[in-house]
Amino acid sequence: MLNMILFGPPGSGKGTQSSRIACRYNLVHLSTGEMFRQEVRRGSGYGEELASYMNKGHLVPDQLVIRKLYRAALANMKGPGLVFDGFPRTLHQARILDQLMTRFETQVHIVICLMVEEDELFSRMMGRAEDSGREDDNTHTMRRRLEIYHQQTKPLKEYYRQQKKISFVSGMAPVKDVSARIAKVVEYYRQKKEILQSLTEDEIS
Ligand code: AMP
Repeated sequence: MLNMILFGPPGSGKGTQSSRIACRYNLVHLSTGEMFRQEVRRGSGYGEELASYMNKGHLVPDQLVIRKLYRAALANMKGPGLVFDGFPRTLHQARILDQLMTRFETQVHIVICLMVEEDELFSRMMGRAEDSGREDDNTHTMRRRLEIYHQQTKPLKEYYRQQKKISFVSGMAPVKDVSARIAKVVEYYRQKKEILQSLTEDEIS
């Protein structure tokens, strides 16, 4: 299994890049934001509750996110691997994800942090607002989402840095160039893994 997290501020291209990388490596793309938007479109009471957080640019409470993510991940734990897009967004979520992976004797292998300058994030979000139909694509909500990213999500960089899993990729380049850089990180990881697997236990110790 190959499990990856695409991490970055709102508007950094996580959704686009996650779907491209999932397609390239035949992985399952899990976007919590997309799962929630589907739920809102369905118009259930649960959907209304989710929309009340999302439309203000707030995070959906951890217990709702984890329940949703857990179900989606469990259904795919025997597959080739997962690309997490927009999850985890808090340290609590990251710890829960580690526990889930350990339970299935696997782990998060690669974390890609997409870096995009703040002016560019705003102009992308405003461009997206015109045709996305997303209620959370407006200047006010975008500001709130960025604040929350800085307060609650950015600390995850340190969490994954300590685990030696994070790679930083500039998200300022054209989409296909960013994808190529992410693919390089994946290839590097795979080569390293192959070398380690080809060494005998004696050689390693
Ligand atoms: P996204 O599509 O990833 O930009 O997510 C859209 C919105 O869904 C976010 O602004 C949050 O309100 C909510 N959301 C998505 N993923 C999470 C998560 N992991 N934790 C909390 N809220 C989330």
